[in-house]
Amino acid sequence: MEGCMLCPRRCGVDRAAGQRGFCGADNTVHVARAALHQWEEPCLSGTRGAGTVFFSHCTLGCVYCQNRAISGRQGSGVPVDEARLAAIFLDLQRQGAHNIDLVTPGHYAPHIARALGRAKADGLQIPVVYNCGGYEALETLRLLDGLVDVYLPDFKYYSSYYAARYSGADDYFEVASDAVAEMVRQAGAPVFDGEGLLVRGVLVRHLMLPGLAGDTAQVLRHLAGRFGDRILVSLMRQYTPFGMERDYPELDRTLTEREYADAVEIFQDLGLAGYLQEGEAIGESFIPTWDGTGTAPSC
Ligand code: SF4
Repeated sequence: MEGCMLCPRRCGVDRAAGQRGFCGADNTVHVARAALHQWEEPCLSGTRGAGTVFFSHCTLGCVYCQNRAISGRQGSGVPVDEARLAAIFLDLQRQGAHNIDLVTPGHYAPHIARALGRAKADGLQIPVVYNCGGYEALETLRLLDGLVDVYLPDFKYYSSYYAARYSGADDYFEVASDAVAEMVRQAGAPVFDGEGLLVRGVLVRHLMLPGLAGDTAQVLRHLAGRFGDRILVSLMRQYTPFGMERDYPELDRTLTEREYADAVEIFQDLGLAGYLQEGEAIGESFIPTWDGTGTAPSC
């Protein structure tokens, strides 16, 4: 925290002294919502829901982010200490969550690791899911070795041009590829329980963007070539434009049926395993209410 290097931005700012780097987070964890969530892949949401904990701020800066109300530098959310965070995890378990789904957690990794240790000592038994943008530092991921059961990273881009233009991270591909390798090293091949829920492994998400079919094909080929059947892949089609018309007019539309169908064909030809979206079956665009639900001490 005194010279933050938690993500590949390596800002070096003193967050313990209240300084903020690219992500906008200081030394206090902020949570925007903690609740059961039905909108992940079926192997994570199951019948009762994933126990999502949405953290404020983000180390990426995707221009099309649907969670921008909490992900930006201004952020929002409720401040929580590590004891409260551990209590939130245990409360989600009591509510019947299939897992603890940590959403955009990287910039709070040390706090989360300590809170998880505390919660596990107090009876947390359900799998822990690390749901991130894929832009992760290896040293930070190693803090979580043995604490996380399922990694759920995005793999957004192959091209450094698109990564720079849309997420301000021209090194995204190299960083994400090495991050997924570390995740596979830690979590191993996918393991499901008797109810079809993913309890260990790596599920990589790729959100298709309009006009980037070639980039999607490169991402899928790379994932198949480097990781093969050691990962699952979720090919997502629910991109929804928000205020793109002025600065990013090329992103101001949804995907065409043809764009998705072509990507599905590549996915299947490569022998990838995982999830495809039929219509709005999974991941339909859904933005929760960022009102601090589930963070209060009385919950
Ligand atoms: S976590 Fe935030 S402050 Fe730390 S290096 Fe990354 S962007 Fe910078």
